[in-house]
Amino acid sequence: TISMAVVDKMGHIAVGTSTNGATFKIPGRVGDGPIAGSSAYADNEVGACGATGDGDIMMRFLPCYQVVESMRLGMEPKIAAKDAISRIARKYPEFVGAVFAVNKNGVHAGACHGWTFQYSVRSHEMDDVEVYTVLP
Ligand code: ASP
Repeated sequence: TISMAVVDKMGHIAVGTSTNGATFKIPGRVGDGPIAGSSAYADNEVGACGATGDGDIMMRFLPCYQVVESMRLGMEPKIAAKDAISRIARKYPEFVGAVFAVNKNGVHAGACHGWTFQYSVRSHEMDDVEVYTVLP
C-alpha cells in the first residue's frame, strides 16, 4: 500500500491510498484501501493518518480513524499511532502492519507491529525527502 497525506499552506489536509493488489490479492477482494478510516483518514481540524499491512485484519479496527480521533482528543501523533497499532496487536498478535500520523502542525510519527516500517516526509523548507525508520 502507498498511503500519502498532504498538509497545504492553507492548512487543508488530504489523504490518499492505493492498495498493493499483489500479496493479499484474491479474486473479488476489496481490501482496506477503499474503507474510509482504515488505510487512510484526514480531518482539516486535526491531521491525517495512513496505514499499510494486513488489511483484512486492520480494516476491522479503522486504525486511521482511531489515530485522527485520538489526536483530536490531544494525543501526540506518536502516542496515537502506537495506541492504534496496539489495539490491533492485542487481538491479533501475529498481524503485520503500520500507520503514520501527522497532525495539522506537521508533527509526524509512525508505529508498526511485526515488521520495521519506513515512511518519508517532504516539506517546503526541505531540499529532499527524509526517510524515517520505525522499529516495532
Ligand atoms: N493493506 C494492503 C491490503 O491489505 C496491503 C499492503 O499494505 O501492502 O490490501
